[in-house]
Amino acid sequence: MKTSTKKTARSVVLALAGGVVATSVAIGAIGCSATSHPHAPASLGAAAATASLEALVDEPGPLTVETVIGADWQVPLSGLLNLDHPKAKSAKLTDRDEPIHVAFHAVTHPTRGTFLVDTGVERALFDAPDEAVIRGLAARVAHVDKMKRRTDTKTWIERQRRAPSGVFLTHLHVDHVSGMRDVPAGTPVFVGPGESSARSFENLFVAPIVDRALENKPPLAVWRFSADPDGVFDGVVDVFGDGSFWAILVPGHTRGSTAYLARTKTGAILFTGDACHTAWGWEHGVEPGDFSADKRRSADSLERLRRFSARHPTMEVRVGHQERPRG
Ligand SMILES: [Zn+2]
Repeated sequence: MKTSTKKTARSVVLALAGGVVATSVAIGAIGCSATSHPHAPASLGAAAATASLEALVDEPGPLTVETVIGADWQVPLSGLLNLDHPKAKSAKLTDRDEPIHVAFHAVTHPTRGTFLVDTGVERALFDAPDEAVIRGLAARVAHVDKMKRRTDTKTWIERQRRAPSGVFLTHLHVDHVSGMRDVPAGTPVFVGPGESSARSFENLFVAPIVDRALENKPPLAVWRFSADPDGVFDGVVDVFGDGSFWAILVPGHTRGSTAYLARTKTGAILFTGDACHTAWGWEHGVEPGDFSADKRRSADSLERLRRFSARHPTMEVRVGHQERPRG
C-alpha cells in the first residue's frame, strides 16, 4: 500500500471509528457535512443555568437507566487518547488496539417513555452484513470484523413493552448511529448544534453511512442551548422541564458533542459520550486523541466535566466506550 493510500485509509478508519482527523481542518472547507438529513430546532427542552442543574443533581430523581452493550470492538488507542499528553507519556502509553464497546443507554421517565442515548449496533451488521448501514468497503476499513455482538439494538427493542419515544445522540459519528435503523421509523432524534453541518473531508466517506442510518427518521431535532450564565459549561438544557434529565454541551470531539445526565432513584448518572472514550482517560484527565475534531476544546470540555464530577462525588460517570470499575 502506497503511503498516500495508507494515509487516506487511516483517515477513513479514524472517521469511521468515530473521529475526524485534525489534518482535515485545513481542507474542511471543501469537504461535506456529516449528513444531508434535514434538521430543525428541537421543540423539547429549555436552556437553563448550570446552577439549576447543580442544585438538583445530588437529589434522587424519577428515572431508571439500563446500559446495553451492543458489541465489543477494538480501535487504535491513539484515536481514543491523546498519547502526546504528559500523563500518557509518563504512563508509557503507546499506540495499540484498545478493547472498547459500542453501547446505548435506555433512560425511562415515568410519564414520557423510554429514550435511548445513542443507538448501539444494528442487527443486520451481524445477520445480513450486505444490508447493514455500515457495509462493503466502509465495513472493511472500519474493521467491523473485529466487532463481537453482545446485544443488538433490535433484539433489545423487541423485548420491550413499548417502542422508544426518542433517541438522544451524543454526536453523529458512525459508531453512535450504528443501531439507528433498528429504532422504529418516525422516532424523533435529538442532536447537538452544528453536529450535522460541520464540514470535513472525511465526511465524503462517512455522510452516506449517516444518511442511510437516518433515512426513515424525522428531521434531526437540534438542542437549543444558550450561553450558560454561570460559564460552567457551554450550555445546559433541562430536557423534560422537570429537572430529571439534562443535555450538556461539551464541544471538541465534535462541534455539537453533548453529554447527558439522568437523575435516578439511586442517584445521578452522567453519560459523557465521546467527551471521554476510556476509563483511563477519565481517571487521569487525558482527552481523546485523533478521533477528535478539536483536541484543545475536547480537553477543555473534559476538564469541565471532571470538575463538575468532583463537586458531586456520588454521581456515577459512564464514559463513551468502556466500563469503569465500580466504587
Ligand atoms: Zn464513539
